[in-house]
Amino acid sequence: MKFKKGDMLLLLIVLIAAISYFGLNYIYKETGEKTAVISVNGKEYDRIDMNKLKEEKYVHIDLEEGRHIDIVINAEGAYVSDVICPDKICVKTGIINKVGESIVCLPNRVQIFIEGNEKPEVDSVSQ
Ligand SMILES: [Zn+2]
Repeated sequence: MKFKKGDMLLLLIVLIAAISYFGLNYIYKETGEKTAVISVNGKEYDRIDMNKLKEEKYVHIDLEEGRHIDIVINAEGAYVSDVICPDKICVKTGIINKVGESIVCLPNRVQIFIEGNEKPEVDSVSQ
């Protein structure tokens, strides 16, 4: 099998394209934007850019019937720090920090969702 000059050039272009693709992919993942989106009753309540977060952000939401939920968002991720909630599943969920993860407080109809352009870790099951 012999390569012509044109083939070599094509091969080189493909190779460069492949390297830059994977290189970009790597950088892309490293700098992936992350936004914590808080919604109450299905409506967006607040969104916090997790990349620009310099200090811990504390979100206190007053809910119906005198209930409340306190959410903390910091460099580690987002979690429910305090809530008046019958099942406390939202607190038990703990800290979330990956794109696609969410905390749901069903009784209070509050959801915290991390959205962004970071690729979700598909192989997290095999870990
Ligand atoms: Zn809850």
